[in-house]
Amino acid sequence: MTNEAIEAAALLPCPFCGEEYAEMSHYTTASSPKEPAGYYVECGYCSAAGPPFEVQGEMPDRHEYTKTEAIAAWNTRAAAPALLEEGARLALEAAKGAAYNAYLKLSVSKVIWDAMAALDPAAIVKGAGHDRD
Ligand SMILES: [Zn+2]
Repeated sequence: MTNEAIEAAALLPCPFCGEEYAEMSHYTTASSPKEPAGYYVECGYCSAAGPPFEVQGEMPDRHEYTKTEAIAAWNTRAAAPALLEEGARLALEAAKGAAYNAYLKLSVSKVIWDAMAALDPAAIVKGAGHDRD
């Protein structure tokens, strides 16, 4: 994957600062001083980094494959706050719904209570539970 392709790939915004520009970075090791030994995605603003992935195996496309892993990890990381936000929104909605239902039940109960209170309590008790025809 070329750098242009990586930029074109849907890299989600930084989960820490929200910056939309993130880039592919690499690291080298003593045993691999010239060729990248691994890759990770890094925020172009705050330098927050996704988890590094070590280049492994002998496949010709092993570098591209490793970059793909780094991108997937970055996007998984960046997706979490959005999911949490969505979860919080749904929880709030559910709570609002529950509160509204409770309010409705309370209102309905009060209407029924008031209607019953307006009747003769003795008649209600007498009539309850069985039909007399
Ligand atoms: Zn950032």
